[in-house]
Amino acid sequence: MTNSGHKIKVVCRVRPFLKSETPDESVAVESSSLLRVTNPRDSSKDVKFNFDSCYGPGIGQEAIYKNDVRPLVETVFNGLSATVFCYGVTGAGKTHTIQGTEAEPGIIPRAMEHIFKHQERDAFDYDIRVSYYEIYKEAVFDLFRSRDTMPPAGLPIREDANRRIFIAGLSEKKVTSYEQFEQLYQKACRNRRTASTKLNNHSSRSHAILTVQ
Ligand code: ADP
Ligand code: MG
Repeated sequence: MTNSGHKIKVVCRVRPFLKSETPDESVAVESSSLLRVTNPRDSSKDVKFNFDSCYGPGIGQEAIYKNDVRPLVETVFNGLSATVFCYGVTGAGKTHTIQGTEAEPGIIPRAMEHIFKHQERDAFDYDIRVSYYEIYKEAVFDLFRSRDTMPPAGLPIREDANRRIFIAGLSEKKVTSYEQFEQLYQKACRNRRTASTKLNNHSSRSHAILTVQ
C-alpha cells in the first residue's frame, strides 16, 4: 500500500554501464516515472514505459530506499504486510539493489536498520523474527542452516488449514538488534555463495527470500 492508495507499485532502476560493457543510448530515464527504450526491431523508433518511479544510473541506494521502500516499511508498523520483490535478468543489479555492499548497503540492511530504530523509539514491545531461504530449481533451502544438514531435495512446501503456503521445518530466528541481524545475515549470505561455487550457473536460478515477522 502506498500513499496514492495503489497496492502494487512498480519501480524501475537502470544501473550504470559496467567497464566490460559498451555504453549506448538505447535505454534512458526521461523523467522520474518514464523510461525510453529504443525499439530493437527499428532503431529509429522508441518505446516508452511508465513506472511509479524510474531511476537512472546516477541515483544511489539511499534515494531509492527513502522514496520507495521506507514508506512501505512504515506501513508494516500499522499492521500491514508488505513485500519487496526484485526482478531482472542476471547482471541487471538485483543483488546490488536488495543486498548491496558494505559501502553501499541496499534495501535489506536499510529496512532492518529502520525497523530496529523504530523499535527503540516505540512504546510497544517488539518480537522480531527472521527467516531466510533460497529457492534453487524449485527446491527450498534454509539459509540459516548449512546445506549438509538439509535433505538434498530441500525442505517441503506445504499448505496450512487456512491455505497459506509455508515451508515445513524452516528456521525462524529471533533478533533483538541490528548487529545481531547483520551477523546472522552475513553468515547466511555466505551459505548461498559457497553453494554457487559448486553449482554451475547457480545465481541465475537462485532466488533468496528474507521474511521479517
Ligand atoms: P544481479 O543480482 O541482478 O544478477 P548484480 O546486482 O550482481 O546483478 O549486478 C551486476 C553487476 O553490476 C555487479 O558488479 C554490481 O556491482 C553492478 N551494479 C549493479 N547495479 C549497480 C548500480 N546501481 N551501481 C553500480 N554498480 C551496479
Ligand atoms: Mg544476484
